[in-house]
Parts: sequence; C-alpha cells; structure tokens
Amino acid sequence: MTPPESLVPPLLLRSVRIVPVGAVAAPRELVDLRVRAGVVTEVAARLRPVPDEQVHEAEGRWAIPGLWDHHVHLAQWADTLARVDMSGTASPQDVLDRLAAHLGRLPTDDRSVVVGFGHRSALWTTAPTVAALDAVSGDRPVILVSGDGHHGWLDSAALRLMGLPPTDGPVVENDWYPVFARLSTLPTAPGARETAYRYAVQRASALGIVGVGDMEFGPEIGRWRERWAAGVTSLRVRQATYLDGLDAVLAEGLRSGDDLCDSGGLVQMGPLKIISDGSLNTRSAWCHEPYAGSHGGENPCGWPNFTEGELREAFTRARAGGLRIAIHAIGDAAIGQALDTFAATGAVGGIEHAQLVTHADVARMAALGISASVQPAHLLDDRDVAASCWPDRQERCYPFRSMLDAGVALRLGSDAPISPLDPWLAMAAAVHRSADERPPWTPAEGITAAEALAASTDGQPTIGPGSRADLVLLDADPLAAADSTEQAAAHLRRMPVAATFLCGRQVHPTP
Ligand SMILES: [Zn+2]
Repeated sequence: MTPPESLVPPLLLRSVRIVPVGAVAAPRELVDLRVRAGVVTEVAARLRPVPDEQVHEAEGRWAIPGLWDHHVHLAQWADTLARVDMSGTASPQDVLDRLAAHLGRLPTDDRSVVVGFGHRSALWTTAPTVAALDAVSGDRPVILVSGDGHHGWLDSAALRLMGLPPTDGPVVENDWYPVFARLSTLPTAPGARETAYRYAVQRASALGIVGVGDMEFGPEIGRWRERWAAGVTSLRVRQATYLDGLDAVLAEGLRSGDDLCDSGGLVQMGPLKIISDGSLNTRSAWCHEPYAGSHGGENPCGWPNFTEGELREAFTRARAGGLRIAIHAIGDAAIGQALDTFAATGAVGGIEHAQLVTHADVARMAALGISASVQPAHLLDDRDVAASCWPDRQERCYPFRSMLDAGVALRLGSDAPISPLDPWLAMAAAVHRSADERPPWTPAEGITAAEALAASTDGQPTIGPGSRADLVLLDADPLAAADSTEQAAAHLRRMPVAATFLCGRQVHPTP
C-alpha cells in the first residue's frame, strides 16, 4: 500500500543526527537520508542528490520517527480549537487583537461563523461595541460568548445571521439565551468543519504528530472519507468504531488496518472501542475496593458497563471480523474483567487509560500481549482526586514504570480535548509526574525521556533503512542529559519542532 505519488515525493534529507529510539543504536556521525515511495531507503554520510529529488538541508538537526497520539477525539479537538479562547482578556481591545490573530489564520475565502468564548467584561473600563467588532471581522459572522454565558457580543453579520435587530452593544440575558441555545447548531457554513480540521491537523503537524488513533464518536468513518477527498491528507489516522457502528463495519468487511479511502494506507480502520467503566472524577471507574468516603452508599466501588457475557460476545464478533479491541478500562476491576475477556476470546488489542492496575494484572497484560494506551497528562489533574478517592492505592495509579518493566507495550496519548493534543506534554508528564512545584506523584512509576519517546512513535524504532519516512526534525536533542526529572520534563515541554515529514512529504512548516 503506497499513497498516491504526489503524496510521496522523492526526498534527500541532508545532515541529520539520528536520535536512538528503543533498543536500536543510532549512527554517531551526521548522516543523510534518502526517501523513496514513503520509505527511508538509504542512510549514509554525504549521499549524492539525484535528479527530481527534493533536497532538504537539516543542518545537523536531530531526527526522530514521527510522533503519534494514540487516543484522540479529533472532531471535538477541532471544535475546541475552532472556538477562539478569550479567557484572560482585560479589555475589548484585547479581545479584538486576539480575534484578529485568529482570523488571520483562516483562509480568506472561508466565511464560516467564528465563535469565541471566555471574555469577562465586568471590570472593563471601555464598552464593547458592535462597530468595533465589525471593524475587525468585516462581513464574517462573529459571536463572542462571555465567560459566564450571560451575554454575547455579536458583529452585524452575526446579528443578521441569527435574525436579531441591529444594536450597538452586546446581546444580554433574555435576548441572548435563545441565540446561545442555537450555537451548537453552528458552524453551518459549508467548509467550516474542514477548516477546523485543517487547523487541528496543522497544529498537530507543528508538534511533530504524524498519526492519531481517532476515538471520535459518530459516523466518523464516512467523515474521514470525505475529509480525505477534500484534501485533509497530512495525518495518518486509525478510526475506531463503537458498538453502535459495529454491524455496519462488519457488513462492509472492514478489518483493522484496512484502507478506508484509497489513501495508500494513511487512513485506516482502527479498533472496536468499548467503554467498559466510568471515570475517577465521577467515582464510576470500577474498582476492587470502595472509593474512600463512599460510606457504603450505592456502587461504592464504581460499576461495570457490561456483563461478562456481553463483553465476551462483542470481543468474539470483533475478532471474527478482524478487528482489534480498544477497551476503556480505568478501575482495577474493569481492567481485570477486560483481561479475562481477552484471555477467553483470544481477541487482540489494548486497554485505554489503565489508571489503576493490580500488580497481578500488570503481569497478565504482558503475558497476554495487551498494550496500554495511557494519557500521562491526566495524572497532572488526577493526583489530588486520586489522593482523596484512592488514598490507599496511589502507588498502583498510572503504573508506567511497572508496565514497562513487565514488558507491556506502552502507547502515549492525550484523549484530546480532555488534555491538549500535545505529545511533548504527554512525554513530560510521564517523566516528571508533577505539573507544579510539588515533587512528582509516586515517582517510582516515572519513566525516562527515552522510554517516553519510544512510547510515542507507534512502535517505530530508530530511523534506518526500511523505516517509514515519517520524520521529525528537532532543534534540540530530546534525550539531552538532565540533572533531574524536572529538568528533563521542562526540556521536553519546550522542544522546538523544526519540520515534520509524512511519507517524505513536508507537512510542517507547510511549503
Ligand atoms: Zn477518549
């Protein structure tokens, strides 16, 4: 499977320092990489350019395999990015400056509605006016929702669009609420969704992301076919289906890894995703022991969403249809149930989240070959909640070190929009389990920068002949020696990405 020729240009990448990933050693000297049909074919010092080959001078930058976010909800993330964040603005001018910067990033022929959110006008000394907004937005409808949801600052185009009479200032309270309620039906303009997608994909490329496990709900298989046809071609995608879409997927004969749209393998069928328990924050993740402070109330241990029989049937159908399984399991009882089901059915796949795991189940995951798809940035938010809900079992939370040592394949991700789609944030959180000045949370479960990087490349090792030509050039060595985990994490957080290539095609910065 090779993507269309225009998407896999011949490339010579000159003077890179290859970063070792996993157990495979990297050359010590500067080398050149030759790429053909999306694959690295030669790695050697001073390769000669040949005709029709694009030459990119890497000037000694560090090269790593393209990064993956193994668990995202890309449509929701695109929506999140599409809403202009107005929090922390101190004046109408602040808001207008931020809006102008956002509009400058959108294609000029796109006239979709722009929605901003989060300004707080109570302390402003100048009044927001429709005229001032019009001066920035032109004829594009703009709706700025206040942080408390009690008013909207609309430009003239948006007032017309929403059927409101002309006015000088924000639309407030009872005039505003019917408009607010209709926002979820926006953006309705053709192309708005694609614009949001393109921007989300661009942002991902700028961070070195070349692929995602897309766990979005809904008819996303069809939507990815549309997006591919519309030219969203800068990202590898494995699109999951949920149980409600399983019949259609099986009827079409789609197996995990199958191409969804003649994309040469870039847009693939992903796993069957099953949500088998709840979450820590709603105390619904299913655990062996009661949550602290549950006082024997209803469901003191959380609860499972499926009986053993139901899970077994779903796993069996998926396996027969050639689908992998991605099972959301956060509590230790849910993880135990998932592993029982993998063992009983012979299905293959991974556990999503795996936030609280028994020692025995860590070993069982390794023995069964079940991977762990984890979101390290969640632990930054969860440590305090875990300390209050699971005070007696914190050392079994987010057990990255234990899983790696046992031989479990670790895959990092963000679950965006729950945490930002940012692989460097995920790696930093896995290395230094703290977001503030406090020492790391259960530091024994921290992993090294090298291990975090190896868990972020979809299993791709050190770049060499035969590697996917998904390549990221960095202005710094991600594995530079550090005095502490705090320093290593800070270094990862600031990692400057110079360029990203997908199948040898430069996708960032866009040429
Ligand atoms: Zn998710």
